[in-house]
Amino acid sequence: MTPSSLAASLNPGSTIGILGGGQLGRMLAQAAARIGLHAHIYCPNPEAPAFEVASAQTIATFDDREALQKFARSVDVVTFEFENIPLEAADLVSEQVPLYPNRKALEISQDRGVEKAFIKQLGLNVADWWPIDSADDLANALTQCAAPALLKTRRLGYDGKGQLALDQNSDPAQAFEHIDHQPSVLEKKISFEREISVVLVQGSPNQIDCYDLPCNLHKNGILHSSTVPSGVPEKLDQQAKDAAMKIAAALDYRGILAVEFFVKEDENAPQLIVNEFAPRVHNSGHWTLDACSCNQFENHIRAVAGWPLGATTRHSDAQMTNLLGAQVLDWFELAQHPDVVLHLYGKAGIKAGRKLGHMTKISPIGAKIQTN
Ligand code: AMP
Repeated sequence: MTPSSLAASLNPGSTIGILGGGQLGRMLAQAAARIGLHAHIYCPNPEAPAFEVASAQTIATFDDREALQKFARSVDVVTFEFENIPLEAADLVSEQVPLYPNRKALEISQDRGVEKAFIKQLGLNVADWWPIDSADDLANALTQCAAPALLKTRRLGYDGKGQLALDQNSDPAQAFEHIDHQPSVLEKKISFEREISVVLVQGSPNQIDCYDLPCNLHKNGILHSSTVPSGVPEKLDQQAKDAAMKIAAALDYRGILAVEFFVKEDENAPQLIVNEFAPRVHNSGHWTLDACSCNQFENHIRAVAGWPLGATTRHSDAQMTNLLGAQVLDWFELAQHPDVVLHLYGKAGIKAGRKLGHMTKISPIGAKIQTN
């Protein structure tokens, strides 16, 4: 095995290193265990929900070089469960073991401006946007935008955090102050008909597959629910998959890649606009746990371990709903429903808006999902 790439498939009993210990790390570790692989979780938070289901744990910060090197020596391959891992940490571990997805995917996804330019240069649509480094930039951009818009920090924004809705009457100085003068982008607000995403898995260069597309509903910038089938016409469905595969090819990708789209009604045909991509397992793919032959977590582990990919075939219709904050207190009632699969993340403390679990309603393909 060379540090830059895996020479062969990892045998059962090998160890996958996972940077980050949230619910995505937890579900990755559970998936690894199912196929006889160990997970070693690296996370600064001692209460990280992934720790209790992993076979090894490192509690250390992402700038602790010694801890990162020791972690890298103890694993056979490294992956990550969120894209804000400092690049220096990723570089340090990848001196010793292969890192999948690669540095390029991580680096591009960490900066909204770089990400949008990258997507656009592939010939795909993004919302009109302007780089913002000052209140003056914002004042100019608001004039040019001529529509409601969103100001988003270039880095570290997720689940609607680091975002502010603006219009031409907004005060640029106040708005820039509100986001702590951070480098940002102003993005034209799209009046979309719906949101969809492609969750794709890329293994070795000739192994690539997409799950069925979910239709995603967001509330306050946070994913509320994902429904499959999405109801989008076949042609649009294929266009979205082609766009996601184009991004994967340009990134020389390995692992699960999620690409989020806005679907905008147009006079001629509906138009696809890429919102963003995530180089990791994704919330809009959680339904695959209960409705597919091989779920996104196992397929990510398979891809980074050099295994053959599992079938993405969907055997049920599904609707995944996140349980945020106090919604998780309904667990007892939800646990009584025969067609609901309940997932709780074992996080300590209930905070408004915090993802504490999810539930998936499943029904035979073609039977209408009961939403209440
Ligand atoms: P983001 O953090 O960029 O993924 O944004 C979270 C959610 O906010 C998206 O899924 C949309 O529902 C909404 N949103 C973000 N950007 C836009 C936009 N340019 N136009 C309309 N809605 C948006």
